[in-house]
Amino acid sequence: MLDVVSQELLTWRGAVIAGWVALLFAAERWVPAALAPAGDGWLGWRRVLRNGVFWAMTFGLSPLVVLPITVAAAGLTIGPVGDWRPEWWGGWWGLALDILLLDLFIYWWHRANHALPLLWRFHEVHHLDQFLDTTSALRFHFGELVLSGLVRGLVIIAADVPLTSVLVFEGLVVVATVFHHSNLRLPARLERMLSAVIITPSIHWVHHHAIRADTDSNYGTLLSCWDRLFASKSRTRRWAAMPIGVERERDLPVGRLLLRPFRRIR
Ligand SMILES: [Zn+2]
Repeated sequence: MLDVVSQELLTWRGAVIAGWVALLFAAERWVPAALAPAGDGWLGWRRVLRNGVFWAMTFGLSPLVVLPITVAAAGLTIGPVGDWRPEWWGGWWGLALDILLLDLFIYWWHRANHALPLLWRFHEVHHLDQFLDTTSALRFHFGELVLSGLVRGLVIIAADVPLTSVLVFEGLVVVATVFHHSNLRLPARLERMLSAVIITPSIHWVHHHAIRADTDSNYGTLLSCWDRLFASKSRTRRWAAMPIGVERERDLPVGRLLLRPFRRIR
């Protein structure tokens, strides 16, 4: 049963994600939570174009680098590592456990991206965006994509995660990431209820607040429990005119963003 459903899901994954992005992109322009900063053209088109370049690079790079690493890792069993899964860790229950495990992993990986200067060099490119909407969701430097693909590959091998679980999880991550970066205004009660379980825009926008203490908090991607569990939840409440970005830094043109992680710091 799981195989049939997951096969269907994987076949439609691309279309579902594209539909979701288009829906939220339109909705956040119709009912925005915050107004885009002035001076960036109609609907902030300059920003949208800049982020569009990163989307194109992500879509170009994924099938070439990230997907092959993932597929290879899911099919790999090295000596005593891998192929150790007990019988009960399978089916729907196994899929749920895998999603929980991978979400816990990317919580810590995201935290490492903020704590380790080498990783922050790449992750900073995502944070330099001075406003948030659906287009911010895939604005990642290719260096971060490759590094996270490699480290995730090791986790997949160590935990012997089946390919179906990985692909379902990654689909969920894209859907969730587009949602929590979006500028969609949700009814306050609905957002409060959702935020008890999943990461909502109100939680993730605080992660992009241009105050370092807030940037270094709210690391979750799918579930909001990890930040509460590991004491990284910010007390700041999101407000409409909250400054977004990296404290004391400004956004840059695409070329300079791509070179920025490799610059020398004196
Ligand atoms: Zn971050």
